[in-house]
Amino acid sequence: MIKQFVPQEFCLKCQGCCRFKEANSVWSPCLLDEEIQELLDKPEIPAASISIDRRIQPIANPGGADFICPFLETLNNQCKIYSIRPFECQLYPFLINLRKNKVLLTVDLNCPYAYERINSQEAKEYIVYLAGYLNSTPLLSMLKDNPQIIQAYEDLREVAELNLPHEIK
Ligand code: SF4
Repeated sequence: MIKQFVPQEFCLKCQGCCRFKEANSVWSPCLLDEEIQELLDKPEIPAASISIDRRIQPIANPGGADFICPFLETLNNQCKIYSIRPFECQLYPFLINLRKNKVLLTVDLNCPYAYERINSQEAKEYIVYLAGYLNSTPLLSMLKDNPQIIQAYEDLREVAELNLPHEIK
């Protein structure tokens, strides 16, 4: 599990994450191959929760006009699979990003916690931790085996470069 930047109590009060404007949103979490298998091995999880392009498949929000992750419990804003939530969910508000032939660690400043603190010492220390973790041999190997995780997201701030050749994408 990745050490979290945003405290859980902040996340539980925020209505930003795990909600999407479209059913096929590019912001829906990409899944590692092993995560797909782990989810499919659970009889209570419908196969339709996973899209053909290896993402979580958002569903219509019964309480609103948007779409939500099928694992979001809207009554208490909690993730129903929190202990096994996907790598991309653990990583957020940071994302791995392919930009100008470089594999970058970027941050989504639509997250209000990240927006307020991205220039703080706390954020600097966290970025050093996270870049070091992602640049470790086992994580680089995992990313090479799961190139679907490396997407070209727009409008995110670059915070570090990862030691991955862009050709893996
Ligand atoms: S799996 Fe959990 S953390 Fe990830 S998008 Fe769905 S509800 Fe949110």
